[in-house]
Amino acid sequence: MTKPVSFETASERLRLALPLMSRYHIPIAPLNYAVWYEYVAGSSPVLRDVIDRIVKNEQTIDENLTRELYQRYVDPTDQSRVEAAQRTVRRLIEAMSVSLDAAGNEVTRYEQSLKECAAQLSTDIEADELRGLVDGLITSTQQMNAGNAALQHHLEESRREADALREELAKVRVEAHSDPLTGLANRKGFEERLRALELSEDYGEHAHCLLIGDIDKFKNINDTYGHLFGDKILKIVAKAFSNLTKGKDMAARFGGEEFIILLPETPIRGALAVAESIRRSIEKGRVFNPKTGEEVQRVTISLGVTEIVHGETIEQAIARADEALYRAKEGGRNRVECLMPTPPLRATA
Ligand code: GH3
Ligand code: MG
Ligand code: MG
Repeated sequence: MTKPVSFETASERLRLALPLMSRYHIPIAPLNYAVWYEYVAGSSPVLRDVIDRIVKNEQTIDENLTRELYQRYVDPTDQSRVEAAQRTVRRLIEAMSVSLDAAGNEVTRYEQSLKECAAQLSTDIEADELRGLVDGLITSTQQMNAGNAALQHHLEESRREADALREELAKVRVEAHSDPLTGLANRKGFEERLRALELSEDYGEHAHCLLIGDIDKFKNINDTYGHLFGDKILKIVAKAFSNLTKGKDMAARFGGEEFIILLPETPIRGALAVAESIRRSIEKGRVFNPKTGEEVQRVTISLGVTEIVHGETIEQAIARADEALYRAKEGGRNRVECLMPTPPLRATA
């Protein structure tokens, strides 16, 4: 999401974005405006680069492309859907309380007419009066039934709306936890899973490992073939990560060209084997330039592996895996490095 900025900054960005939009014949709709606002704000270098290339290649920026740019680079969680869901909840609650109030009035009226009948029955009563009384009772019972049917209908409608809403919120939640480009979990989804693992009952009874991988010299790929081609490579690498994770393991796109895997109940030997399989599978893959048909330079990845220490923070474990990754880069790239936690010092008697 965009951070709040001062009125002056926002006006300046508006002043810069509008002429660009008019130059490229882009309608001034909110979504289009949001994308071009981010473009002039320069908060996403990738977005800037992608738009620059599109403009340079004289491709058209239509509504679909704008929507994709918006979701990928501006606001992947799509706040408007969350807000729409909140509005529906509010409407539902209001609708239900109105129908419950209506039902309450109906019941009170019915109760009143029954009491009146009872009071009249306890006195001497003529046949005609009794008929009138029964007629009255039938009418109020019918009213009561009609009220109940309306209430039933209303509640049924509310229940249906609530179900649809629950589904929508579940979808928004999944989307907020996944990376739209690769389909893997994103950083948020990954950290949530890691937290859930830490809270599990038998957490302390097993060894759990972390593995971080970072594509080597990825900037070169982007610079040589363009960001859109770079995105294709990201998808291919993501596939290697998901293909080689099984069962309880979880792979995620951790950021830019960085991927991470959580390997619950896995000793370090197993984690190293997974890392090595990923490294080899990526190194083996061949990628072709769709324009020329020529094979693109080999894509490789460096990986860092560590074991998670019970009781340490997520950040500490990730920092150690990152340090191992840094060593793999320093050691020449396209390799796996492991960094084990230092054992706690024990007091000697
Ligand atoms: P190293 O081997 O040291 O990791 O080198 P590198 O070039 O991979 O590392 P660096 O951090 O210098 O560059 C990472 C690049 O990844 C720069 C950035 O533009 C690119 N990148 C980040 N996110 C995306 C994305 O979503 N799509 C594309 N195409 N590129 C991205
Ligand atoms: Mg990186
Ligand atoms: Mg890299």
